Order: sequence, then C-alpha cells, then structure tokens
Amino acid sequence: MSDRPVRHPWSKNLPSGFAAPALWDSIVIGSGMGGMTCAAMLAALGQRVLVLEQHYVPGGFTHSFKRGKYHWDVGVHAVGEVTERSMPGRLLAGLTGRRLQWASLGPVYDAFVFPDGLQLGFPDNPQAFRALLHDTFPAERDAVDAYFARVREVSAAMRAYYLARLAPPSAHVLMDMFTRTARRAFGETAKHALDRLTDDSRLKTVLAAQWAYHGATPSRASLAIQALVTKHFQWGGYYPVGGSSAIARELLQTVADAGGYTRISADVAQIVLENGSAVGVRLRDGEELAPAG
Ligand SMILES: Cc1cc2nc3c(=O)[nH]c(=O)nc-3n(C[C@H](O)[C@H](O)[C@H](O)COP(=O)(O)OP(=O)(O)OC[C@H]3O[C@@H](n4cnc5c(N)ncnc54)[C@H](O)[C@@H]3O)c2cc1C
Repeated sequence: MSDRPVRHPWSKNLPSGFAAPALWDSIVIGSGMGGMTCAAMLAALGQRVLVLEQHYVPGGFTHSFKRGKYHWDVGVHAVGEVTERSMPGRLLAGLTGRRLQWASLGPVYDAFVFPDGLQLGFPDNPQAFRALLHDTFPAERDAVDAYFARVREVSAAMRAYYLARLAPPSAHVLMDMFTRTARRAFGETAKHALDRLTDDSRLKTVLAAQWAYHGATPSRASLAIQALVTKHFQWGGYYPVGGSSAIARELLQTVADAGGYTRISADVAQIVLENGSAVGVRLRDGEELAPAG
C-alpha cells in the first residue's frame, strides 16, 4: 500500500492546511510539460512548490478532454526518448516514481507516403533506419551516412549548448568556443544542410519528413531542430499509458507528495520584482502570492 497522502494534486482553491503563502519554496507559472517537469524536479529536491495554471485543466499541450465516451488529446500522439535508454526517459521515470508508463507504437512507429508513391515505415532503431535508406537509395549510401553523422554531431553540440547556458556570464569566451558547433547549426537551415549532402530530392524529402514534429518547413527550420527531432525518434515513438493526461497526473502527484500543490484557474498577470529580483506573483484577480523569503 502506498504511503502517499490521499489528495487530488490540483484544484481551484488550496485545500485546508495549504493557505499560508509562506509555505512555498518556489512558484512555477504554467503547468505545461516544462513547468511540470521543473516543479517535479524541485519537489524531488525537497522543495514545496506551488504550480499556478491559468486553465481549469493542468498539463498545457499534454491535457486531454472528454466528448461523449471519447477522450481527446490536444497535442501528443508520439513521444521519443522516453525509455530508460535515454536521459529524458530516466528523468521522467525518476520524477514519477515509475508510475508514468509508456507504450511503444511498434517496430514501425511512423509511416510516410510521399506524393510520388514512395511509402516508407520508419523503424524504431537507427541501424534499421539506415539500412532501409541504404536499400531504398543505393546510390546515396554516403549521403545517408553523412546525414546521420551530422545529426550525431549537432545533437551532441546541443547538449554542450544547454550546459553552457548554466555558466556565469564571466565565462562567455570559453562558452563561445564550447557552443560554436551548435550556433552554426542554428544559422544553417535543414534544407541547406541536405542540399550540401545530396542532389536526390526524394532522399532529401524522406530525411526531412519529420519536420511536422517541429512545425517549420526545411527551408525555414534550423539544422539544429531538425537534428534534434531525428535523434528524438531514433529509438521509436511511444504513447503514455492512460492517455496524455497521465503525464500531468503523475508529475503533479510528485509535486503534491512533497507538500506542494497545483492551483488551476490561477492566471498570473505579473511577476512582482524587488530590486530586480522576482519575489512573488500577482494573479489577474489581484491576489498576491510569494514564496517563503
Ligand atoms: C497539436 C500539437 C501536437 C503535438 N504533438 C506532439 C507529439 O506528438 N509529441 C511531442 O513530443 N510533442 C508534441 N507537441 C508538442 C508538445 O505538446 C509541446 O512542445 C509541449 O507540450 C510544450 O510544453 P510547454 O511547457 O513548453 O508549453 P505549454 O504546454 O504551452 O504549457 C504552458 C502552460 O502555461 C500556462 N500558462 C501560460 N501563461 C500563464 C499565466 N500567465 N498564468 C498561469 N498559467 C499560464 C498555459 O495555460 C499552459 O498550461 C504537440 C503540440 C501541438 C500543439
């Protein structure tokens, strides 16, 4: 039996015993994937976190709604890197006490049908994907290999870039060196990178086919985001067991288990600053909330 406090992890008003503003160590604005992950990480570090969500359903683009007997997800249909093979997967498993489970979309997780009749099922491992492309485009083996080498290079550079963002401003010269590859990938479009590798327009279409996941066509998307999406799905696609609302339920339960809480219908109008530092928030209805000083 779980020793988890029996408590719904969110509501419009704070439950009794949660009224004191000085209770919170941190306030997180918004319960999207970013806010919830941040709040659950702070909770895992022992903080009591207040999450404020303007909508009456938490979860941002991971929330779902019901019409008749059907549940509808507003966004998520496939997520990569959620097994414990990947850092995000290990992170989510740890932050939800392994309560959040993921179902594989199968060995072929995505199928693309191109206007010229070519149909390709994207397999859930990088070796099989590379072999499929070698078989489909035998004259372009070098271009395929060069593309995946570029994806690996840019993905690794992006990790360095994120880490560098934590460095103090005084370290900017070192950080400029450290992030050069990533910054080059921001400045190059996916189309330009593919044009440099091959003249085969069908292969370029296939390699860029997942642009819909980030939403910008290859001529407008940076190589950085294209490489991250390619890497993101190299081990296949997954769907949260119980629907996308399971993500909010489990992450916000972690927040509640550590003594935090999520208030819905709480629209933050302003971050209150004192001497340039954030000291609290003001809601649209004028209520002020502040973490413990
Ligand atoms: C149609 C669609 C399909 C998608 N499909 C996939 C997919 O299959 N796989 C995948 O990995 N990703 C998918 N995505 C992308 C993914 O859903 C988002 O990138 C991710 O959920 C964004 O999380 P976020 O925390 O950055 O922002 P959001 O989810 O937008 O969360 C922000 C939250 O902050 C709240 N908020 C904003 N301002 C305030 C305020 N002033 N006060 C209080 N609360 C506030 C908002 O109400 C919201 O809940 C999809 C996105 C869309 C739109």
